[in-house]
Amino acid sequence: MLYPQEFDVIVVGGGHAGTEAALAAARMGSKTLLLTHNIETLGQMSCNPSIGGIGKGHLVKEVDALGGAMALATDEGGIQFRILNSSKGPAVRATRAQADRVLYKAAIRRMLENQPNLWLFQQAVDDLMIEGDRVVGAVTQVGIQFRSRTVVLTAGTFLDGKIHVGLNNYAAGRAGDPPAVSLSARLKELKLPQARLKTGTPPRIDGRSIDYSKLAEQPGDGMPGGVGDQIPVFSFMGKRSMHPAQMPCWITHTNARTHEIIRSGFDRSPMFTGKIEGVGPRYCPSVEDKINRFADKESHQIFLEPEGLTTHEVYPNGISTSLPFDVQYDLVRSMVGLENAHILRPGYAIEYDYFDPRSLKSSFETRQINGLFFAGQINGTTGYEEAAAQGLFAGINAALQCRGEASWLPGRDQAYVGVLVDDLITKGVTEPYRMFTSRAEFRLQLREDNADMRLTEAGRQMGLVDDARWESFNRKRDAVSRETERLRGLWISPKNLAATESERVLGKAIEHEYSLAELLRRPDVSYGQLMTLADGKFAVEEFSAAVPRETAEADFVAAVLEQVDINAKYSGYIERQKSEIDRAAHYEHLKIPADLDYLAVTALSYEVRQTLNKHRPETLGLASRMTGVTPAAISLLLVHLKKMG
Ligand code: FAD
Repeated sequence: MLYPQEFDVIVVGGGHAGTEAALAAARMGSKTLLLTHNIETLGQMSCNPSIGGIGKGHLVKEVDALGGAMALATDEGGIQFRILNSSKGPAVRATRAQADRVLYKAAIRRMLENQPNLWLFQQAVDDLMIEGDRVVGAVTQVGIQFRSRTVVLTAGTFLDGKIHVGLNNYAAGRAGDPPAVSLSARLKELKLPQARLKTGTPPRIDGRSIDYSKLAEQPGDGMPGGVGDQIPVFSFMGKRSMHPAQMPCWITHTNARTHEIIRSGFDRSPMFTGKIEGVGPRYCPSVEDKINRFADKESHQIFLEPEGLTTHEVYPNGISTSLPFDVQYDLVRSMVGLENAHILRPGYAIEYDYFDPRSLKSSFETRQINGLFFAGQINGTTGYEEAAAQGLFAGINAALQCRGEASWLPGRDQAYVGVLVDDLITKGVTEPYRMFTSRAEFRLQLREDNADMRLTEAGRQMGLVDDARWESFNRKRDAVSRETERLRGLWISPKNLAATESERVLGKAIEHEYSLAELLRRPDVSYGQLMTLADGKFAVEEFSAAVPRETAEADFVAAVLEQVDINAKYSGYIERQKSEIDRAAHYEHLKIPADLDYLAVTALSYEVRQTLNKHRPETLGLASRMTGVTPAAISLLLVHLKKMG
């Protein structure tokens, strides 16, 4: 049957990429259909029940700054929040939350169901409708044909998915869900460059069988015994009052016996016996991989993370495994506190198809098939946050294409989303890609705290940001710039500041006149200290201690003052970075003709010509970051482009 309505954007898959893609396209006014296997699994966390962390939290904040769902759903579902690296510089501080799976999913589903312009439909997609070199819709398992102008494919780990537990394996998209076999076959037929990756998950434990009295407790921030007295909030629109009850995590360790048990299973490990061909994430290895690679390490820390408020299920973070079940059983029970543990679900590894992201344009549209976009794990990444960021990005670009507008790609100096997309399309992946702050060369300016300042205006222009967020953002931005200006206009000098007071606040007597803005640049001077100068005559009521704590207003004030402070402290570095970026900008954005015959640029080595010819970067900047393309090759290419005029 041909479905009577036609859509602008069809999103296939309701995971973290698909839900953000569908929400973004619909927010931008595109008539959007989200087609997914099962409406009950919308926003499902396939693995760990947590969102954020270093690099990942940065992505979540950016998705949020562009009006996305992930941070708000985490605020609604988060049962433990922590600011990681809180004692380090603001660039690497990151929010991480433990989420109640049920609450998280419910929040995502509610947002989807209440989003204007968005339709949901439950069915497996088995085929794509293609006319010439363009996708024109998707066909479901029972033959319903949905026509659309664009399709965003976010099939996660489902394409030809195969689960391994020991030497047993079976076809599945993840435990309990069917694989996407027909769609995988169809994509192979279309000759999109594809290969296999793998990822894994630990066995889950019934909390009633854990002896918590033997374990170390790890409370979240703002919980009794935890860091600080405030529970963090993820979304720029989030409020502490959205959080449900909070829960601690617990810590145990592997030991010599655990390692012995793990080694005894190597001969039945699908990884070590060659049953699994796909490469797994180096940064999130299975426990057998850790024991094999770091043989002299005597113990590994294992976090026991609650999966929710209404379940006893516990996620043991650090023992992802595909060893046979009998080995899993013994290894779990060899750890302190888990001597009588009951396993609720076995751990497993999953192998799946992914597509070489170097075959995508900088909008995530495939080069071969117009209108077809890929986002999420299908592009060789791992992680909910990476998936959400890509989904939002692809959803935006599909919607822009429907409007007949140019695609959007934030620069590497503007957003981690830009770093992620740029890395994927220029370098491809050799193992599942995850985000780290070290991937960003401009990380001083890509902070969690200023994600809204970097992106919300662009989001508003594209139609992603609603009035409430826009008003709240403007209020903050105005307050930051007003306060910064005020500090620039306030001066103190040795004449009007007693030496003792200067020493108290600034550590030494000041030698000449300074504005408060200049003093705030000093690493050891805080805004609060400055406001105590001269009997508090510089303090303003708007930002004073009179604002009641634990209120949204107090959070607002804290966020404004944080920006004022960080901007002052980092402005010198950031200005320097900006001038470097401006100098490079011309070449960065220099367009390369789409039909350039690289093979004829004989000044370039054969390998470089082959690489550029295959992946056809859109700009000189993108070309310069491709693996194997040297700075010398870029100079030669530039000369060639100049000659072409
Ligand atoms: P998914 O969340 O997989 O969502 C895909 C969606 O598409 C599902 O809703 C599915 O039903 C739907 N779908 C697929 N094919 C079709 C079709 N043909 N028709 C209709 N609907 C379809 N990440 C980490 O960061 N660390 C880890 O340690 C980790 N371990 C993992 C272990 C396992 C076993 C699994 C399965 C995943 C793991 N992940 C891990 C990855 C994490 O789950 C993914 O990165 C993330 O969920 C990817 O989001 P996605 O939206 O791309 O895909």
